[in-house]
Amino acid sequence: MIFTDIHTHHSLSEPDILTVRNIRMEEAESVLATAQGGFFSVGIHPWYLHNISAEDIGLLELLCSDKRVVLIGECGIDKNSTFSAEMQIPVFEKQIMLSEKISKPLIVHCVGSFNELFVLRKKHQPTQRWIIHGFRGKPQLAEQILQSGCDISFGEKFNPESVRIVPFERLFIETDQSEFSIEEIYHQIAAAKNCKIHELSAGNLFINEFSSIL
Ligand SMILES: [Zn+2]
Repeated sequence: MIFTDIHTHHSLSEPDILTVRNIRMEEAESVLATAQGGFFSVGIHPWYLHNISAEDIGLLELLCSDKRVVLIGECGIDKNSTFSAEMQIPVFEKQIMLSEKISKPLIVHCVGSFNELFVLRKKHQPTQRWIIHGFRGKPQLAEQILQSGCDISFGEKFNPESVRIVPFERLFIETDQSEFSIEEIYHQIAAAKNCKIHELSAGNLFINEFSSIL
């Protein structure tokens, strides 16, 4: 069984694990230059908007054009960020537009801002997947997220009822900053969903799609 870790900040790579390692823009150039295999996400996180300029968006586009970058993000809206929603939303929208322009999905960080997120989905009508990462919310919110057209990724902390309502093809799994292995988290999700590990295949299929065009 191959496991796909759709969002991790760990740099470890193992042969039977496909990882999408999240890297910050500042480190992206050097990480991409020296990385041995693996996939990446690069983006502008809503906590780190200091000195973001138009050039940064240009640089992000350049970095994301690397074939190993399969997701743009994590990007999104966080009500706990020291930056206001008015500052966060335009930077997020730039990344939404980049996602559509270069046909790469988003890995989305959204905290306490789902109504704003749903408004942006309606406004931009994106064709690319948006994967809401690290979702810990209740099934009612999971349902609204699915209805908006977004997919959901679960990590070490999740609401089992929410896991149960997300269809297999829209359910992703991640370690993020966790000390648990991706294999352990797959087992926890499978137990919550009362399914076989191999049914949790959305991440593998996603990476396969990308690998076939590499
Ligand atoms: Zn993260």
